[in-house]
Amino acid sequence: MTGIGIGTDCDVAVIGCGPVGVVLAGLLAKRGLRVQAFDRDVDVFPLPRAAHFDHEIMRVFQELGCADAIAPSTIVNKGMDFLTADRQVLLSMRASERTTSGWPASIMFHQPGVEHMLRTTAVANGAVLHLGHAVDHVDDRGDQVVLRLDDGRSVTASFAVAADGARSTVRKQLGITMDDLEFEEPWLVLDVVLRDGTPPPSDVALQVCDPARPHTLVPMPWPRFRFEFMLLPGETAESINTPQRARELMAPWVDPDAVEVERSAVYTFHGLIAREWRRGRVLLAGDAAHQTPPFLGQGMCAGIRDAANLAWKLDACCRGVAATSLLDTYQAEREPQVRAIVGAAVSFGRIICTTDPQVAAERNAGMLAARSAGGGTTTETPLPPLTEGPLIAHGGGRLAVQPRVTDARGGASRLDDLAGQTWVLAARSRHHVPSGLAAPWESLGAWVSTADEHPELHALLDAAGGDVAVVRPDRYLYAVGEQLPDVPAILQRAHP
Ligand SMILES: Cc1cc2nc3c(=O)[nH]c(=O)nc-3n(C[C@H](O)[C@H](O)[C@H](O)COP(=O)(O)OP(=O)(O)OC[C@H]3O[C@@H](n4cnc5c(N)ncnc54)[C@H](O)[C@@H]3O)c2cc1C
Repeated sequence: MTGIGIGTDCDVAVIGCGPVGVVLAGLLAKRGLRVQAFDRDVDVFPLPRAAHFDHEIMRVFQELGCADAIAPSTIVNKGMDFLTADRQVLLSMRASERTTSGWPASIMFHQPGVEHMLRTTAVANGAVLHLGHAVDHVDDRGDQVVLRLDDGRSVTASFAVAADGARSTVRKQLGITMDDLEFEEPWLVLDVVLRDGTPPPSDVALQVCDPARPHTLVPMPWPRFRFEFMLLPGETAESINTPQRARELMAPWVDPDAVEVERSAVYTFHGLIAREWRRGRVLLAGDAAHQTPPFLGQGMCAGIRDAANLAWKLDACCRGVAATSLLDTYQAEREPQVRAIVGAAVSFGRIICTTDPQVAAERNAGMLAARSAGGGTTTETPLPPLTEGPLIAHGGGRLAVQPRVTDARGGASRLDDLAGQTWVLAARSRHHVPSGLAAPWESLGAWVSTADEHPELHALLDAAGGDVAVVRPDRYLYAVGEQLPDVPAILQRAHP
């Protein structure tokens, strides 16, 4: 039987200490699992790729234990405007002021700084990071996984998660192919530092739908700012990625002498989704499992949602309270959300990347007419709910609201902090949670409370639409209704 401390060097081995791997390692270690994580590089990738994350990701950082440390280094993004070449607004998306998680809807950050904080937190939670050690090979022996490192050593684990990025060694070794959503566009990314108090060229993200040169402006915590420019047919990375071209491209938005280019690189934006996310005891997460064009700033976010979805399920499997078939729900739950977000980013990309002036003129006319009819859009990340399955019952599937609740000392705590990394049973009153029905949940470690004790739970129940709401450890609603449901059958080995 698999179980904590039995027969392996660790419970979970994580391959790759990018943002996804290190968040997963930290979440698992905080649950008390023995976690070893490996990265071929010693330090974090020194320059930013991701610039944006959303409220749900900050809620995961909260679970990890570092949201309050990260928040001061970030800025809140007001939204994103799509502009014509002459800067008319085609579409204006404004970030919602109130979100389900209680954190800002749209957050801009400096990736290397945040990754350092994630690593420090994962280690503080008990994860062991082996930096400068590549994993060359994984071998699933049925009851454990054997990892071979580049120095010839082997490590055994009950499960291995490959968060080893877009070029995943493990995905290739397993022969797992990708579903190609047929979007492939090379873009020049310029990260600049604004000198001497120079204000940012925009305080909202801009998608400039100029058929002569589609480009994007991304506010980041001052003094940083990002520009992205699409390569035109016939252009090469070598021809566009020069200091002189960078100056010319930025000049309409900022005085090139007022900025220092910190990094310039050509990236090819893809829409790709792995066909299998689990092969036995080996799972894929983050860019190893899916890649999206960055137009919605959601690639890393999708990977961190993978980590949150996997953490509590791997914990249940490692403790022997659920069969490994529980892990089949991982791809089943996550892939539809990933397809929706990658599909939306690809659709936005097709709008933005139009280079045919005739097609662009028709697009502009349609979008301007729609805008004058309907105004702007206010939005959270456009994610569908998790669909019904073994871990989603009636009324479940959406992220649960996180209110601030009064704790025993009379202070205000965020609900997730008070409840801990477990199931939450929230009810209007005691009679909605009769002890006979609550007992199996309590044996699963659930935090059970009512609006009589914590009136702030009304906000969660009102948003969920019932008198009883059962929230999974990853903060998604399992079930909502008038009565307490049974523990999901897939977890009933927890209390024989
Ligand atoms: C220009 C650009 C802009 C972006 N903007 C955003 C944004 O605003 N918001 C957002 O959410 N996402 C954004 N993304 C996407 C985001 O950067 C990625 O989705 C995210 O970095 C993926 O994280 P990861 O941990 O899965 O992989 P990675 O960050 O690639 O980390 C993988 C790690 O695995 C290690 N590794 C690889 N192979 C091995 C091996 N064999 N053994 C050991 N270690 C190994 C690597 O050294 C690396 O540290 C953007 C991407 C680009 C290129």
